[in-house]
Amino acid sequence: MTEQLYRTAAYMRDCSARVIAVNERGGIVLDRTVFYAAAGGQPGDKGMLEIEDGGCPIATTIYDADKLTIVHVPAEDAPLPSPGQSVRAVLDWDIRSKLMRMHTCLHLLCALVKFPVTGGQVGAEEGRLDFDIEDASAVDKDRLTAGLKQLIAAGHPVGERWITDAELEANPGLVRTMAVKPPMGSGRVRLVAIGENGSIDLQPCGGTHVRNTGEIGRVAVTRIEKKGKLNRRIRVAFA
Ligand SMILES: [Zn+2]
Repeated sequence: MTEQLYRTAAYMRDCSARVIAVNERGGIVLDRTVFYAAAGGQPGDKGMLEIEDGGCPIATTIYDADKLTIVHVPAEDAPLPSPGQSVRAVLDWDIRSKLMRMHTCLHLLCALVKFPVTGGQVGAEEGRLDFDIEDASAVDKDRLTAGLKQLIAAGHPVGERWITDAELEANPGLVRTMAVKPPMGSGRVRLVAIGENGSIDLQPCGGTHVRNTGEIGRVAVTRIEKKGKLNRRIRVAFA
């Protein structure tokens, strides 16, 4: 199991680590990492593993089949480190910080659109959430943009709270996203809480977020697409 430093320190940009293994497809396993492995609609991190005599660019980061081990996927033809070697894992912070801002913004969208979420994707330039919306007139591009702007400008704190798997099972209403299984199994689940005591949004999430909604910056709802009888895809982009 890889020690996942971003779980408690989302702002950590680099760390020293030791290479545990390089698998048959060239994927690199470290004892610890700041690289987020793709999950829950947030893409895996890019960056660089700095080795003694050069660097190994990382194209993306994924979970191994056991869902505990993190695999750093090198760019094509990248020089690979060897097991036992010490490396410095350095994030592409420009991309990751945008993902943190957009991911947090999608929580705010969730807070504004009180309908079941059926899917979503976080990107460095835009993000989207799909909702089952009974009354399509309930969502309007400009009203949602204004709502996001207000929540961002208010500078709400983004924190976390831990509950047990059993507590989550007893409170199924906490789960907004039906398409993404909450990160359960370790006995406890992290809730991301926006606003005092999660007054703006409170839901299980394993992703990386900014500390305050004010860090999200300027965004706009760019499109609301009809994806099915009930389903609407709402796209948000940095303005
Ligand atoms: Zn989240």
